[in-house]
Amino acid sequence: MVIKQKSLLKKNLIHFCNKVINMVVQMNREDFIYEVKTFFKVCFPNEVISFTTLTNRSFDFDIQIEDDFLSVSYYSEGQLKYNSDASKEQIQFIGAITDRVEKRKEQKKLMKLLISNVTYFITGKEQPWGILTGIRPTKLVFNLRKLYRNDTNKIVEILNKDYKLSDEKIQLMLKISDKEHAILSKNKPNEINLYIGIPFCPTKCLYCSFTSFPIDKWQSHIMDYITALKKEISFISDELLKGQLNQIRSIYIGGGTPTSLDEATLEVLLEAVKDAFPLEQIEEYTVEAGRPDTITREKLLLLKRYGVDRISINPQTMNQKTLDLIGRKHTPEDIINTYEMAKEIGFKTINMDLIVGLPDETPEDVRNTIEQIKKMAPNNLTVHTMAIKRGSALSDHEEKYSYASSESIEEMISITSQGALEMGLEPYYLYRQKHMVGNFENVGYAKREHECIYNVEIIEEKTNIIALGVGGITKIVTQDGKIINRIENTKDVAGYISRIDEMIDRKRGI
Ligand code: SF4
Repeated sequence: MVIKQKSLLKKNLIHFCNKVINMVVQMNREDFIYEVKTFFKVCFPNEVISFTTLTNRSFDFDIQIEDDFLSVSYYSEGQLKYNSDASKEQIQFIGAITDRVEKRKEQKKLMKLLISNVTYFITGKEQPWGILTGIRPTKLVFNLRKLYRNDTNKIVEILNKDYKLSDEKIQLMLKISDKEHAILSKNKPNEINLYIGIPFCPTKCLYCSFTSFPIDKWQSHIMDYITALKKEISFISDELLKGQLNQIRSIYIGGGTPTSLDEATLEVLLEAVKDAFPLEQIEEYTVEAGRPDTITREKLLLLKRYGVDRISINPQTMNQKTLDLIGRKHTPEDIINTYEMAKEIGFKTINMDLIVGLPDETPEDVRNTIEQIKKMAPNNLTVHTMAIKRGSALSDHEEKYSYASSESIEEMISITSQGALEMGLEPYYLYRQKHMVGNFENVGYAKREHECIYNVEIIEEKTNIIALGVGGITKIVTQDGKIINRIENTKDVAGYISRIDEMIDRKRGI
């Protein structure tokens, strides 16, 4: 084997270095590249990583995966600097697995453990989420609870040893899985949750990768969209769910920003939902009113009159300079005024969304945001960590902005979790995303009885989600939570309008 190692990594530097460094990983197995790449991106977020299975290129890491051998080595200046091999017991354990898929799963896990040993040598830093890269960490806790009959000590030991999670993240996962369990244990038999998408917003936020279009540009098509949506709503209530409407637990109208619709159009939509579904039997009815620049007293009164009991008013930040930067055409005062109006009208639950790690924000900015939120004291708060998602304007111009370091994000998260605690809110749901700055998490906090049922259901995937409108993804699951059918609506507004019968046909027979 011809080995030409490159010299590029310095201990304790790479993780905090903003300069782009090229990194070459040599592997003997092409079929593991995706997993390795994903995990390397977590460990070395600022580096450009390339992979090779050729042995005549220079490289920085060498990963060998065989049935009886698994090894990760790190080279610098032509010298082997660190090496982590699987133990005999680990190899024997994997060797005894007969199921091909299971075997591969364990190999992947072990490979990530070895990579994390090597990256710790280089960076001196443990990943708080250990080797977990999936978006639903609590699913793992539910599986372990089942496997080890709720033996918390055993579960903590496994999360710590086999997944290398930090104590803090383990405690967060355990607390949240308890909360989620309380919600999921009240699931109806063959439960259904409904999502209705309104893909319009006043403007597109810098970081947005959702299916959302500026409403002004689509004004002349809005009524056609609502007409098509009403057709899909009627199909769901009169045909698909005929005789099963009492199985619906929650309705979530999201988007986009549904309150971008003018009052009259919003009423047409709310009327259609009221005619189609037994709202009096439904436990939670949410409408996202995310942008204060779309909210009026009249619209809020309308929502209240039609039985909506949960709304979102999403500041993201209470700093004007950041609101301007991310393209939200409102002020922090607009948020306060809208929130007070909604509170006075009397919605049961008002959620506020925040994002930590927005471009140019510091922990001090986040402290200012949380102090202002504390004065409003919403009963539901969701704290997201900034993610630079493909398809967003931010990802197209990523280099134009500056981002907080992992350490600053950690501090911001701790400021928000402390603030949530001081408001009497408890963490109740959790998910992670790809491309998150600093590889952290999104956490929903709520006062007791103000948790969002729909959020928990969609994250845990234990019940059926039927999604209507542009970009809706319907998921049909078995009793034990296996997805057996996934049906997507088009993400194109014009396509949805012209092909509404096809969207409906896709759902027939599920
Ligand atoms: S309000 Fe939400 S959906 Fe609308 S553009 Fe901003 S992030 Fe996207």
